[in-house]
Amino acid sequence: MTVPKIELNDGNFIPQLGFGVFQVAQEETERIVTDALEVGYRHFDAAMIYGNEAQVGKALKASGIPRDELFVTTKLWNSDQGTDSARDAMDLSLEKLGLDYVDLYLIHWPRPDLDRYLESWLVLEEIKAAGKARSIGVSNFHRPHLEKILAGSNTVPAVNQIELHPAFAQRDLRAYGAELGMRIEAWGPLGQGKYDLFSEAALKDAAAAHGVTPAQVVIRWHLQSGIILFPKSNSRARMAENFDVFGFELTADEMASINAIDRDQRVGANPDEATF
Ligand code: NDP
Repeated sequence: MTVPKIELNDGNFIPQLGFGVFQVAQEETERIVTDALEVGYRHFDAAMIYGNEAQVGKALKASGIPRDELFVTTKLWNSDQGTDSARDAMDLSLEKLGLDYVDLYLIHWPRPDLDRYLESWLVLEEIKAAGKARSIGVSNFHRPHLEKILAGSNTVPAVNQIELHPAFAQRDLRAYGAELGMRIEAWGPLGQGKYDLFSEAALKDAAAAHGVTPAQVVIRWHLQSGIILFPKSNSRARMAENFDVFGFELTADEMASINAIDRDQRVGANPDEATF
């Protein structure tokens, strides 16, 4: 199965469907990442704060898959924002992952109360120039945070990774991203299982029409909306289900019905208010 690749604004390409490792326990990470690689995933979304970079790195290395066939993201944690601390955090993440470079490095949250994200972004520019990250971007950034970065630096983030699922479709941020040439990545693409997404009639109807599961319909909705996503599962069967989404296509009517689920229903923190 070939996952489509999307071109980023710096000319690099990212596989549109990957695998996320948030809340994957350290002791299970090697097994789970190995399963994901065997299923066919080549794009992994990690973060320093997930506490499992070393185990992700071990599984990638043990697979023997050439580095240039893998796409690895990690993220700068909030308490490491700043000039020296961001430089050190990148080096520590590379060391834990056992890699010379990551494909994508993100500022995890803006933390506007700290007001260090522009300073940190300038370090990410340096990190890219030094070849330690092929692409750089942000996560959980709202328009004012992005505007500050655009005004104070020379680089438009390649991606903004934001909470995004049918009940929280983030139309305004997606439109602003499109204006800037910045790709959108969805976190919590399945709503993190925190609401009864899969009972939505639009999803059940489309699933029945195509002989697939509601989860596969949600993933397809993201893909056909041009969004990059990396659903997480500890179960190899669900990993395979989530990857088996290239044999059907939602109709325009089905896409419209799923778009109508949007009701501004967040399952995670509001980036304007987050202080963790
Ligand atoms: P997801 O929306 O991917 O949901 C994961 C949950 O859905 C798990 O409970 C999983 O259970 C379940 N699930 C997975 N596949 C299926 C399926 N086919 N049918 C039914 N249930 C399923 O949430 P995540 O928070 O994990 O988001 C994905 C990734 O996004 C993260 O792993 C992380 O990489 C990133 N992320 C980034 C954030 C940020 O601030 N930048 C914040 C949160 C996440 P089970 O494991 O038992 O299958």
